[in-house]
Amino acid sequence: MPMFDFVCTSCAHTFDALVRGDVLPACPACGATKVEKLLSLPAIKTSGTHDRALAAAKRRDASQGQERMHAQRQYELSHDD
Ligand SMILES: [Zn+2]
Repeated sequence: MPMFDFVCTSCAHTFDALVRGDVLPACPACGATKVEKLLSLPAIKTSGTHDRALAAAKRRDASQGQERMHAQRQYELSHDD
């Protein structure tokens, strides 16, 4: 079961809670059920991993792109006559 950070929109109390499905927990401070999931912490982790994956993909694409351009130049040169 994933653990999430929540903020209560009623009293601004923040807390973590285990979440099952789409059921939002009630605020432990005031009991309100108007809470919002805070995605900042997992988002930062995910984004870091994603950025590294993206950077690796970009490097791969760039080298493949250069190879394609090189192949295209060779093709044009050999078919110039
Ligand atoms: Zn509250």
